[in-house]
Amino acid sequence: MIHYKNREQVEIIKESALILGKAHGEVAKHVKIGVKTNELDRIAEEFIRDHGGVPSFKNYNGFPSSLCISLNENVVHGFPSDYALKDGDIISVDCGVFYKGYHSDSAYTYPVGNVKEEVLKLLKVTKESLYKGIEKAVCGNRIGDVANAIQTHVEAYGYGVVRELVGHGVGVDLHESPEVPNYGKSGKGSKMNDGLVIAIEPMVNLGTKNVVQEDDGWTIRTADRQPSAHYEHMVAIFKEGTEVLTTHKFIEENFKF
Ligand code: MG
Ligand code: MG
Repeated sequence: MIHYKNREQVEIIKESALILGKAHGEVAKHVKIGVKTNELDRIAEEFIRDHGGVPSFKNYNGFPSSLCISLNENVVHGFPSDYALKDGDIISVDCGVFYKGYHSDSAYTYPVGNVKEEVLKLLKVTKESLYKGIEKAVCGNRIGDVANAIQTHVEAYGYGVVRELVGHGVGVDLHESPEVPNYGKSGKGSKMNDGLVIAIEPMVNLGTKNVVQEDDGWTIRTADRQPSAHYEHMVAIFKEGTEVLTTHKFIEENFKF
């Protein structure tokens, strides 16, 4: 069942998303060679709690931390550790905030130091595909229109679109209906109606689309161990237009290549 939101509910989600965007911005200041990923997690959790929010991911089905930190060949759902960032890594930071009864959710993949040209291109194209998807997230369109726009954009570069993990509705629950895949056919899937709030989150691999789960029970990595990128925004779809609720602005202001 889809829980459509009214304008008042979306305004609260935007407050949650603003805390989230600024938490990402604090993390962005510290994404550097030598920084331990659990330090990034501490920074995010402290910022969120200092601003009246609760980290959505911490304890979600037993997840141990506030950030999902997925390095290099890890696609999503990795967790922070003592690992210190190295020159040439890419790091995906996914974060969620629960505030005044509503969740927000967004993700960003950073290059650390000197990253290979082909991997920088993967990041650029994956981020572009997020906006291609958002362009199709219009009232009256179907989920397949979003999915197909993402898939078409990234497959033109020979990349693999992860099938097993998808975007989702967001609201009172972190993961609500409908599912929002990153592959599919235009004109198919459920219709996007007035008041739909979804997270769109392409997960794109340099090589094969296939993924496996690590023995830690959480981390998803590419089957061929080639790198993977992940960018995520939430949008609210109304008859009058679509609004992007989350922001990468604070990341991009604070993170210098
Ligand atoms: Mg999500
Ligand atoms: Mg997320």
